[in-house]
Amino acid sequence: HADVAMYHAKEKGRNNYQFFNAAMNEKAQSQLSLANKLRVALNRKIIHPHYQLKVDTQLGKPVGLEALARWNDERGKPISPVHFIPVAEEHGLIARLGKSVLNQVCIQIRMWQDMDVEFGSVAVNLSAQQFRDANLLNDIKEAIEDNRIDPTSLEVEVTENMVMDDVEDAIRILNDIKEMGLKIAIDDFGTGYSSLSYLKRFPVDTLKIDRTFIRDLSIDNDDAAIVSAIVSMAQKLEINVVAEGVETQEQVEFLRSINCNVVQGFLYAKPCAGGEVPLVWHRMIEEFEE
Ligand code: C2E
Ligand code: MG
Ligand code: MG
Ligand code: MG
Repeated sequence: HADVAMYHAKEKGRNNYQFFNAAMNEKAQSQLSLANKLRVALNRKIIHPHYQLKVDTQLGKPVGLEALARWNDERGKPISPVHFIPVAEEHGLIARLGKSVLNQVCIQIRMWQDMDVEFGSVAVNLSAQQFRDANLLNDIKEAIEDNRIDPTSLEVEVTENMVMDDVEDAIRILNDIKEMGLKIAIDDFGTGYSSLSYLKRFPVDTLKIDRTFIRDLSIDNDDAAIVSAIVSMAQKLEINVVAEGVETQEQVEFLRSINCNVVQGFLYAKPCAGGEVPLVWHRMIEEFEE
């Protein structure tokens, strides 16, 4: 859109162009240049998933992983997916990016299966556009078949808002994914606008409580109440719960007191490269055994 607008402004004369150029906000400009860099990065295949452990503090062991896209610029500085995922969506690059992450994850799973490495399951984040993309099911099916992986070792994460956008359609897509054997998690739970009655209709295995609720658990009684309510509701619906962004022992203790045992956060592990996962996984088990 910006390109077209610029073209028209340019046609009207230099002044208009300059006016438009100046008026074009900084954000749009930096997004445009980020989109160009992203295109190059995709061509060079330098965006790779890293993996963060999910830990069961009751069982005292890791139970799975979440794949998180990682991209370093030419100077080696990381660019956050918080920035480049929306840009990928706005500039028609999300399909390629999403497919690339999915394929790399499936290749990694195949390697771990071959090496008899424990990893539980791997969750892949889907973006809103990816979720509604008619090719999604085929892409997943292909990635699974090409790499001969067990579909139950793969999980997708979608956000509340993504499924609430068109509930009937979302239920259909989620059922199809579920039928292939994958597990389904609702990410950033609590930040969106899903209602409990809908939750029952979605074939959901896991709710991931957004880290904004976990962050202030020990000082904010409201957050503690919300998290407790989510956990007890999920238990009644027989849905698993994962607490995101756990950084302190205090948070773990509160979560354990309300029977929320599976957590993900820097307290236990930061996302790491696929090659490091076996080491991190086993170190974690040893730490719990001490
Ligand atoms: P998310 O799916 O909710 O992922 C969790 C984010 O929280 C990750 O950020 C992770 O590094 C971060 N995190 C984990 N533990 C802690 C903690 O203890 N403290 C804090 N402060 N943060 C923690 P990351 O990797 O920057 O990703 C941000 C978001 O970008 C993700 O949120 C997800 O929505 C999106 N994203 C990342 N990779 C992909 C991808 O491959 N595809 C899509 N569509 N989205 C992705
Ligand atoms: Mg996620
Ligand atoms: Mg999340
Ligand atoms: Mg998030």
